[in-house]
Amino acid sequence: MSKPVVAIVGRPNVGKSTIFNRIVGERVSIVEDMPGVTRDRIYSSGEWLNKEFNLIDTGGIEISDEPLLTQMRQQAELAIQEADVIIFIVNGREGITNADEEVAKLLFRSKKPTVLGVNKIDNPEMQEQLYEFYSLGMGDPIAISGSHGLGLGDLLDEVLKHFPEMEEEEYDEDTIRVSLIGRPNVGKSSLVNALLGEERVIVSNIAGTTRDAIDTPFSVDDQKYVLIDTAGMRKRGKVYESTEKYSVLRALKAIERSDVVLVVLNAEEGIIEQDKKIAGYAHEAGRAVIVVVNKWDAIEKDDKTLQQFEQKIKDHFLFLSYAPILFVSAHSKQRLNTILPMVNTVAENHSLRVPTNVLNDLIMDSVAMNPTPTDKGRRLKINYATQVAIKPPTFVLFVNEPELLHFSYERFLENRIRATFEFTGTPIKIYPRKKN
Ligand code: GDP
Ligand code: GDP
Repeated sequence: MSKPVVAIVGRPNVGKSTIFNRIVGERVSIVEDMPGVTRDRIYSSGEWLNKEFNLIDTGGIEISDEPLLTQMRQQAELAIQEADVIIFIVNGREGITNADEEVAKLLFRSKKPTVLGVNKIDNPEMQEQLYEFYSLGMGDPIAISGSHGLGLGDLLDEVLKHFPEMEEEEYDEDTIRVSLIGRPNVGKSSLVNALLGEERVIVSNIAGTTRDAIDTPFSVDDQKYVLIDTAGMRKRGKVYESTEKYSVLRALKAIERSDVVLVVLNAEEGIIEQDKKIAGYAHEAGRAVIVVVNKWDAIEKDDKTLQQFEQKIKDHFLFLSYAPILFVSAHSKQRLNTILPMVNTVAENHSLRVPTNVLNDLIMDSVAMNPTPTDKGRRLKINYATQVAIKPPTFVLFVNEPELLHFSYERFLENRIRATFEFTGTPIKIYPRKKN
């Protein structure tokens, strides 16, 4: 099930990224807590009135060095194509500009639901600046102040009204949804072709096409899969589609629709920052992950190469310590036949349910082995544990004081759970909840 997508468009400096950050909240994401790159984050999830959605800041996708009007047009086209609802931001202190009118025209013609936010209305006295924006023909303008956090609730109320009905689940429960993500040229399409070309693979010729992805359903023996297409695998040729950030965006959408994500690395090039970022999204989205090192044929090897590479991956992807690593070659077909069996295994682990009594015995044993943390004389007490969800397996601990569950103790419990149950390839989540 994919969440509705909301895109923010508007001229530079009207406050798009300020508003984006307000809406997605302060959550520091593990992949993006690097200094000085706020604008790096162009895609994140938000929530309003219990409705989740994905938000794109189109301003963060630098499309080309074209003149402003051309860039605005491309931005608007991207939003029209990718989003269910568009938030169009203008600057209430500057009034309407040509670029605003141009964007308004495009949005109007597209008939995409659009909500007009007039930003930088920092105090009630400035409300009258709103009225001129009626002439854009985009309905009632909503006064907001991104920097003061005003009016965003009204804006989001309006956005929510335009959400489409939730899409039906496209594939049945036992179909494993798989995507391959990674930088351009790591060999994703070669791997896909090689996988689909394997002997026992039966590719269904009805390509299930959703709004913006090309899916390839296939089966091996009795197991059904669907391959979710990502950027770079099929090049389509719009200007923005060749930009790096856009391809990340596509990858994120594919991740969201997947059960299992194959993070593809190029053995020849090792690991770079971008690999980490992409893999981090898969982890954060709670998907099962397999690291696939491709082009293993292309490098010189001795008896230590594999272990060294494995260690390098572990060092770089600390957050993915649960992910199995496969060394393959799309060209020589080396170990290609290990991929789908591994997909089956991690998919199974991703939806594993553990018996409550075994879980509770395990937690009590763990506590006896390593006493719970204390703070200012108060000690964490875990009364009861239960698994509340799968995909990924999610556990709730009922405790006396949730804030006493420190990260390190949570990590300890996670390791104990992993040592007892088979969770290879899947993240697991642990949440404390207050209950005496
Ligand atoms: P973007 O280029 O559209 O993403 O705009 P930014 O979010 O980077 O904001 C551009 C400038 O406008 C920054 O200096 C912000 O601090 C400022 N700004 C953003 N929102 C507001 C607002 O509500 N009121 C005022 N006065 N300034 C704002
Ligand atoms: P994508 O952009 O990630 O889809 O990558 P492609 O599948 O288009 O592959 C990029 C390049 O790497 C092409 O020239 C491929 O022939 C080459 N390539 C892909 N897989 C392998 C492999 O296993 N070994 C070697 N040596 N080259 C490969």
